[in-house]
Amino acid sequence: MYYFDHSATTPLLPEVSELMDHINKDVYGNPSSIYSIGRESRSIIENARKQIARSISARPEQIFFTSGGTEANNHVFWSLINNSQSHIVSNVIEHPAVTKVLEFLNPLGLEHELVSVNEDGIVSVDDINKAIKPETSLISLMLANNEIGTLQPVEEIVEIAKERDILVHTDAVQCMGKIEIDVSTLRVDFLSLSAHKFYGPKGVGVLYVREPKKLSPLIIGGGQEKNLRAGTENISAIAGMGLAAETSANSLDKKVVALIEFEEQFKSGLNKVFKKAIFNGNQSKKLPGLINVSFPGNRSDIIMTKLDRASIAVSNGSACGSGDIKPSPILSAIGLDDSMNLSTIRFSFGASNTPQQIDYLLTELKSILI
Ligand code: PLP
Repeated sequence: MYYFDHSATTPLLPEVSELMDHINKDVYGNPSSIYSIGRESRSIIENARKQIARSISARPEQIFFTSGGTEANNHVFWSLINNSQSHIVSNVIEHPAVTKVLEFLNPLGLEHELVSVNEDGIVSVDDINKAIKPETSLISLMLANNEIGTLQPVEEIVEIAKERDILVHTDAVQCMGKIEIDVSTLRVDFLSLSAHKFYGPKGVGVLYVREPKKLSPLIIGGGQEKNLRAGTENISAIAGMGLAAETSANSLDKKVVALIEFEEQFKSGLNKVFKKAIFNGNQSKKLPGLINVSFPGNRSDIIMTKLDRASIAVSNGSACGSGDIKPSPILSAIGLDDSMNLSTIRFSFGASNTPQQIDYLLTELKSILI
């Protein structure tokens, strides 16, 4: 398999897989039990909490384990439903794990406004400012977009929010291992992560919370995670995520260099193979290694099927249901018409790629594109 869809998910690091196998086989104590095998499980979890905290410059007590990015985002929004300040500002190109939750919470009294983005895929600080109301309690703005990779001006938004006593959440699910995440400089109040995007396991994630007393529980039951997220912890997944986060942070510089090299090789090759290629979103303020390209005159579902036959995995942002493909709302938001939208593919490179694989991808594209 030639895998160029690392923004969808990533393969497990071998050392993460080994660690998880060992824990699944040998460490079965309930972390809440006070006898020795329970304490062993507890210490594995607390070690992972420290690894994750270090990887984003947080304190361990600010790290809460979740079932992934979706739950981390949900936790922040649901936490606000009993708030007297009941308005949230976000933007149209957020993941459905933000936009659909906000829509769902509307009839429950939590209102929101989704600010638009420019054709570069970047939100304007001024527009966010204008959307703020006296009752706004939270601004939720993703650190980087999952389809076009554009980086949002989160630090500037935090400046504005602090002046008005508004909390800030950022969905940083796409960012670990691609850009530095430092909550001490970002100064956000909440930040969501998901392990399967940085070579860790699926079904586990993190919510960073600057001041845990500002968060209410989402999943209620036993007293785990300081009463904020009940349920017996998934020890092996949490440990795997801890190791994956530490590895990502420690190898960030090397990884970014490789991603940029793949990106340059791909873009310059593609410009020769298909001159009409259009690169979507701001090309300098974006995640390295994530490239969103429109191929005018070609349908993305057909390109994807043909690439699949050549064992190449890429993705488009279009939702498929009962055979119909629908334009991606993110690409519509940056101004692509439906025909261009349905001619667009996302390529996302990662640690498992090599320059030879990129050459193979270019050769196959050359034979497919018309
Ligand atoms: N947020 C963004 C930006 C994502 O890209 C994704 C997954 O694709 C999610 C949230 C959801 O994360 P998870 O799959 O861990 O629930």
